[in-house]
Amino acid sequence: MKEKIQWIWNEHAAGRLRLDAIGEYYKTKAGLENKATLMNSSYISKNNDGKPPYQPAIFIYTPRLLMLVRVQQKVPSDFNQMSKNTFVLGLVHEATHFERGEEYYTTETPTDETQLLEEDRVWLKVSQLAVRRMRTIGQPLDVDFLEVDDILQRCNYKRGCVEFLDYLRTGGKTPRSPTVYRQPQ
Ligand SMILES: [Zn+2]
Repeated sequence: MKEKIQWIWNEHAAGRLRLDAIGEYYKTKAGLENKATLMNSSYISKNNDGKPPYQPAIFIYTPRLLMLVRVQQKVPSDFNQMSKNTFVLGLVHEATHFERGEEYYTTETPTDETQLLEEDRVWLKVSQLAVRRMRTIGQPLDVDFLEVDDILQRCNYKRGCVEFLDYLRTGGKTPRSPTVYRQPQ
């Protein structure tokens, strides 16, 4: 987990990774607002013309971020820590997607199924890398992470678990499309 955060820090500092704050809620390709999305990631066209060169980018939706820190969570102590944990786990999630490298994002035409399996891979890895350990030491975590970790635990942390794939399909955690996005306007 620490390595992933460090990776984001290093790549951003070196000018290779973009971290963009978007001042509105995430919009799906169909143009619908999804207020639940805190961040997502993609490779974007540097010149914004859909062509190479590409650059990895993480988009952070600031109204969602504000909502996250404003709403008081019913946790025994320090709800701000939960917001912080959610933010960090989001970054770790996106950094884990980037393990796939540029080719995955820019050359493949992903089907719904390959996107689903990529989300499966990433949620599983983040649970194993970070969520389990944070739970063990009693860190306050958003219910989404707990739900996911409970399911994955029942699946013995195996990929392709039917219960978890169903959760992804129906739980509103629609995988973002790993295609080249235009920069949000
Ligand atoms: Zn994802």
